[in-house]
Amino acid sequence: MHARKRDPSVVYWLGNSLYLNVTNRCSNSCYFCFRKFKTGIREFNLKLEKEPTLEEVIEELRKVINRKNCSDVVFCGFGEPLERLNLVLEVTRWVKKHYWKTVRVDTNGQGYLLNKGRDVVRELKEAGVDKVSVSLNAHDKETYNQICKPVFEDAYENVLEFIKNAKEEGLETEATAVRIPEVDLAKVKELAERIGIKFAVREYIPCFW
Ligand code: SF4
Repeated sequence: MHARKRDPSVVYWLGNSLYLNVTNRCSNSCYFCFRKFKTGIREFNLKLEKEPTLEEVIEELRKVINRKNCSDVVFCGFGEPLERLNLVLEVTRWVKKHYWKTVRVDTNGQGYLLNKGRDVVRELKEAGVDKVSVSLNAHDKETYNQICKPVFEDAYENVLEFIKNAKEEGLETEATAVRIPEVDLAKVKELAERIGIKFAVREYIPCFW
């Protein structure tokens, strides 16, 4: 007999961080995306059957935020959190009002394209987001389009704009790229350093869990 499939998780944890999996939608289709070859992380199933409402996210967070000795809350799941900007803003305000934890958003950096007409970075800052980790992923547009297959034609330029604005707005800003043969990591690092932000490499097959 097969073991019962675990219910999807909206909140999951690794180390001292609580992670929020609020959507499975994404405007990219990176060939190295975990979603393509995993159903979750550790014991957590991150394949949502439906997107949680704001109330459901807060309820799930409330259940664990006191029990877990967490230092930060991170929007990072099997999808792009800024597909749900309003929810990210509301949950951040709730966390800051009641717990004063550090809040980070891991994003593909296409927030302006996903939320046309919105001042996305400023809104994140004003809601209380402390940090953003942006998947820059490539040293040029051609490579980005090849490996990330964005739905938006001008995605790469927008990712760079998002990163620059995040830095100017005073958010702690990091750019990341995955170690794959198509990407010149030294050039991505140089680009991040020129903008004046931190850079981190992510391994293609991370086996730390
Ligand atoms: S941006 Fe992130 S979530 Fe979206 S397809 Fe790429 S790796 Fe997956």
